[in-house]
Amino acid sequence: MLKIEVARDIGFCFGVKRAVEIVENLLLSGENVYVTGDLIHNENEMFRLRSIGLKSFDVFDEWPDISESTVVIRAHGVPLDILRELRKRAKKVVNATCRVVSAVGDLIKKEKAEGFEIFLYGREGHAEVEYLKSVVGDLKVVNQKHPNVAFSSEKIALFSQTTMGVDGFKEISKKFLDMGKNFSSFHVYNTICAVTLEREKEVKELARSNDLCLVVGGKKSSNTKKLYEIAKSLNENTYMILNVSEIDEKWFESIESVGICSGTSTPMRIIDEIKKRLSEFKN
Ligand code: SF4
Repeated sequence: MLKIEVARDIGFCFGVKRAVEIVENLLLSGENVYVTGDLIHNENEMFRLRSIGLKSFDVFDEWPDISESTVVIRAHGVPLDILRELRKRAKKVVNATCRVVSAVGDLIKKEKAEGFEIFLYGREGHAEVEYLKSVVGDLKVVNQKHPNVAFSSEKIALFSQTTMGVDGFKEISKKFLDMGKNFSSFHVYNTICAVTLEREKEVKELARSNDLCLVVGGKKSSNTKKLYEIAKSLNENTYMILNVSEIDEKWFESIESVGICSGTSTPMRIIDEIKKRLSEFKN
């Protein structure tokens, strides 16, 4: 029989759970609810929320009339100028930005006010990065694909997007240190969310101790991609899937054990469906 090992920390994180509950409660109370873009990065969950009434719009396109609607701000925030505009135009704005992301914004603001030049280890275009850029106008984004940095101050503060990988952050921090001989101050803030750090640790164990590893999450989910890349580097037999329909039985032909972990926007019901399907395999 196939041995199935499921990560201890799996399904929604507390930030995503809160955002989804806020939307569900507003819809249940009869509100007309909009979100800007995706509330969370999981196609299945967004489909479910849309099917119970959630609407969305792209802030860079023409806005619908939201004067009689409630707009929910997604878990990883929206740029502050858009938030101000939403507050002007909507009947009500409910901010579901995760407290971990808000805390990073506050810290960045404080360091900026103390004269530090702000760098963020992150991915351009991610919702959280766009929000944090809006907190301090001149935040510079660095990552392995864009590692070149030009410093215009001797006081440097380096932060991380909450869903980035810790090894990559250490690498970038070291690069800064190697270049930073003339810094008068160099502050490094590991602002990677504790939930994603814990999942990173767990996926390493799962990938090492099982024949095959399944990473479950949305195609646009940054932390799912990160977990997949970590697991794949340790176990070639690693697959990233959105849901049970993407499982290929051939993957399991000559294996005895499978480890399952998920990104933070993956609903538990998807994990349960995958477990049920795998338990039918006769390995
Ligand atoms: S991953 Fe962390 S920062 Fe992002 S919503 Fe979840 S708890 Fe908040």
